[in-house]
Amino acid sequence: MEAYKIIIIGGGAGGGTSAQFARKTNRRADVTVFEKGLYPQYSKCGLPYTISGVIPSADHLIEFNEEWFKKEKINLLLDTTVERINIDEHVVIAKRNKDEVEASFNRLILATGAEPFIPPIKNIMGKDGVINGAYTLRTIDDAKGIINTMKKSRSATIIGAGLIGLETAEALVKKGLKVCIVEALPRILANTVDEDISSVIAEEVNKHLRVYTNHIATEVNKEDDTIKHVVIKNKETNEEQVIPTDILIIAAGCKPEVSLAKQIGCRLGETGGIMVNERSETTVDGVYAVGDCTEYKDLITGAPILIGLGSIVVRQGIAAGVNAAGGSYTLPAGVLYTRTSRFFDLEVAAVGPTASTLERYNVSFVNGRFKGSSLPDYYPGGEPVIIKVGADEESGRLLYAQGVGCNAAQRINVYASAILKGMSVHEMKRLETAYAPPVAPTLDPLTLASDVCSMKLKRKR
Ligand SMILES: Cc1cc2nc3c(=O)[nH]c(=O)nc-3n(C[C@H](O)[C@H](O)[C@H](O)COP(=O)(O)OP(=O)(O)OC[C@H]3O[C@@H](n4cnc5c(N)ncnc54)[C@H](O)[C@@H]3O)c2cc1C
Repeated sequence: MEAYKIIIIGGGAGGGTSAQFARKTNRRADVTVFEKGLYPQYSKCGLPYTISGVIPSADHLIEFNEEWFKKEKINLLLDTTVERINIDEHVVIAKRNKDEVEASFNRLILATGAEPFIPPIKNIMGKDGVINGAYTLRTIDDAKGIINTMKKSRSATIIGAGLIGLETAEALVKKGLKVCIVEALPRILANTVDEDISSVIAEEVNKHLRVYTNHIATEVNKEDDTIKHVVIKNKETNEEQVIPTDILIIAAGCKPEVSLAKQIGCRLGETGGIMVNERSETTVDGVYAVGDCTEYKDLITGAPILIGLGSIVVRQGIAAGVNAAGGSYTLPAGVLYTRTSRFFDLEVAAVGPTASTLERYNVSFVNGRFKGSSLPDYYPGGEPVIIKVGADEESGRLLYAQGVGCNAAQRINVYASAILKGMSVHEMKRLETAYAPPVAPTLDPLTLASDVCSMKLKRKR
């Protein structure tokens, strides 16, 4: 049997999962993880909740500690940055403190993640990255920095009203700071949900903080090495405003970290992410890639996309780990990027592209929407829930669904299975859902939204 020598670069969700599944698949494989950071595999998704204090310490986010890696006989080299790969010799060259570490492989998994995008804001960069008082939120150290600065802060500005920007904003509000969000697009969560769904969330968010949509941050001002103001500009009127702020959080998206992939000739896609197939293989023999450094295929539009979702990363990690260790694992032909979050007690979830993405790809579709209650009207305690669904105008095939309110994520998960299986909205409206007065209504809003959409489609014919 071939001796498997697997090297994984990056010990985040993608790299860590690859290591686990390589080990599960092949007890004799030699598995080594190189991680430039100081922490073993942890959940980035929990970072905003360490800021709010719901999770008492960022160290609680560590999912697999060094002991666990030792027990599984996986070599984990923390604080070790891979600087070069000699692909002909099958060797990686890394730096650990000042020492050079070399290791050989016959299977390589690139799991290098992504780096936060820093918009061009005057004075934002210092000698070693962004200036004191300004943060991105990608690592445990970022969260620890924010927590420290927050203690001496009264106000915060967040750049970006996507999922991470909003989660962080809520955390800072909960800690008593006066928070505002600056968003360049005309609305919050523009890449996550349609306008009508985001406006429901905006209504709730606006009760707690100020959101400047259609604005960009142009400049930060400091005094005595402390941030004092951020200057923002209205994109339509060019009018400027100076906002006092003690802490600035940049949540303006990420770009895939692909420098090593480029060095060894892995093909990159048009998004800039590493191209992989359904087995997580790159275009270079014996080299796999997983996670935020890769480009995915949207199952509905067929277009390449970048998505930072841990749920997808972990699945890809399973595929890379199993396949690199001699097993066989094939992923679906694309992703639906089923996503969710909760803002100030309002749950939001979505699966598939938004309406504006479908329009961009000239897909003709019809949508239906239903606003109902989580319980029958006669039973006390029901909470509002809105479900929206989009279906192909010709075939009625389900294309996307979005929800806001009670158990939105679980309802959208039902749509995720239906879309993956290619169900039509006419089939979905007949779905038999569970009913009992204290738990769920007779006909669930998820089927009723499909009913509305199905009727609209029939009327169109
Ligand atoms: C604040 C926040 C909240 C999130 N919330 C959710 C959520 O609720 N749901 C969800 O599905 N997703 C969520 N995500 C996204 C999810 O966490 C990411 O998609 C996932 O963690 C990415 O995993 P990864 O392994 O690809 O990348 P990373 O976790 O970034 O891991 C890459 C690792 O590679 C290391 N590395 C890079 N280059 C080198 C090198 N040359 N040598 C050695 N090591 C190297 C880096 O140090 C890093 O640890 C969230 C992300 C953030 C930041």
